[in-house]
Amino acid sequence: MTIKKFDVCVSGSGAVARSLALALSSNGWRVAWACAEQQGGQAKAEDIRTYALNSRSVALLERLRIWPGLQAASTPVHDMQIRGDGRGHLAFSAWQQCVSELAWIVDAAALERLLGEALKFAPHVTVVPPLGEGGQPVDADLLAICEGKHSVTRAALGVDFTKADYGHWGVAARLNSSQPHQGVARQWFRSPDVLALLPFHDPVPGSSYGLVWSLPQARAQEVMALAPAEFEAALRQALDEVDPGASAIVGPLSLTSHVAAWPLALAQAERWSGPGWVLLGDAAHQVHPLAGQGLNLGLADVDTLVSTLTASRQLEPWRTAGDERLLRRYARRRELPTRAMAGVTDGLLRLFADERAPLRELRNTGMALLDQMSPVKRWLVSRALDA
Ligand SMILES: Cc1cc2nc3c(=O)[nH]c(=O)nc-3n(C[C@H](O)[C@H](O)[C@H](O)COP(=O)(O)OP(=O)(O)OC[C@H]3O[C@@H](n4cnc5c(N)ncnc54)[C@H](O)[C@@H]3O)c2cc1C
Repeated sequence: MTIKKFDVCVSGSGAVARSLALALSSNGWRVAWACAEQQGGQAKAEDIRTYALNSRSVALLERLRIWPGLQAASTPVHDMQIRGDGRGHLAFSAWQQCVSELAWIVDAAALERLLGEALKFAPHVTVVPPLGEGGQPVDADLLAICEGKHSVTRAALGVDFTKADYGHWGVAARLNSSQPHQGVARQWFRSPDVLALLPFHDPVPGSSYGLVWSLPQARAQEVMALAPAEFEAALRQALDEVDPGASAIVGPLSLTSHVAAWPLALAQAERWSGPGWVLLGDAAHQVHPLAGQGLNLGLADVDTLVSTLTASRQLEPWRTAGDERLLRRYARRRELPTRAMAGVTDGLLRLFADERAPLRELRNTGMALLDQMSPVKRWLVSRALDA
């Protein structure tokens, strides 16, 4: 057996690649990090998304010593209010679920920046040029592909990525209100769009929001072309149409950032692992952001892969990090929860996209009924906290 220069080559520049490189390094693995940005990976300052992170993701970031820095700039969610397009209403509260918070809202750019800074000081991490485009193959037992949904390395391996475009874009922006958000995340299913306001502390502590507004592509392009005052009016109108009380509750919303959008799709790789390679994050799966779970799934991939490799190093030291059987264990552990989450988000979206009156009545009644079912709600929250 020849000794490789690295145990793992991590290819990718996003939060999943950065977390993986850091987690492997802190467990003593020799890591080559093939990232697109050479200076230790500067975060893209223009990413104005806010992410809802669950408790499993926060626990991973705590172990990576990223969380103290990020927590200072994050907002806990204590309540979640979900409204249908009729009288359907579903409420979750941290207090009722016996957890300290339902999620944390973090700044996407700050998360990548903090991970990038920590990587500069991580032992066992060597930054190498990106794979492909003239980059040299890296001498490593395992290639961990975290290149996002458009991964070229996945395509070069011949792995199919089954993708169904929703025909919707996820429009994101930062907003401010004159009324406090009180740690409440709000979501409205307003066929055909889904609108979410995530409580955030920036720029004004206690009264700012991260917006995620899923809209049919043509309408998304229209709202993105609007001047700030027109965008605010379109948002107000959308809220008033679905929930006449919404404007009064959240107060007048004003834009505090530019507006950006991402095309939305449901996608899953046909295989997650093979001899000497493995997929993580959006390179393996893509889900609709309505449940705020895409990155949480990716960070759970990181957690599972690192614990699978590290446990095997102790119990089966003859296996290298690229051992196919070992990687299949990781894939088996992650495929089911990911498919389940994809099924839930996709099912909800399709249920609320149907305009027929009987279905509208049924889904809103279903929501109201679910709201009365504490054990089911507890189960739903536990699944979301531990994607
Ligand atoms: C509007 C919106 C809101 C969202 N909100 C949430 C939320 O609240 N909570 C949540 O959990 N998730 C959320 N998500 C999902 C989340 O954004 C993604 O799941 C997450 O960004 C995936 O991270 P990743 O690192 O796998 O991929 P990416 O973020 O796509 O990162 C991959 C990176 O690798 C780079 N790359 C590609 N090829 C190479 C190469 N060969 N070499 C080096 N680098 C390469 C890419 O350029 C990219 O920068 C949201 C998504 C959208 C669109």
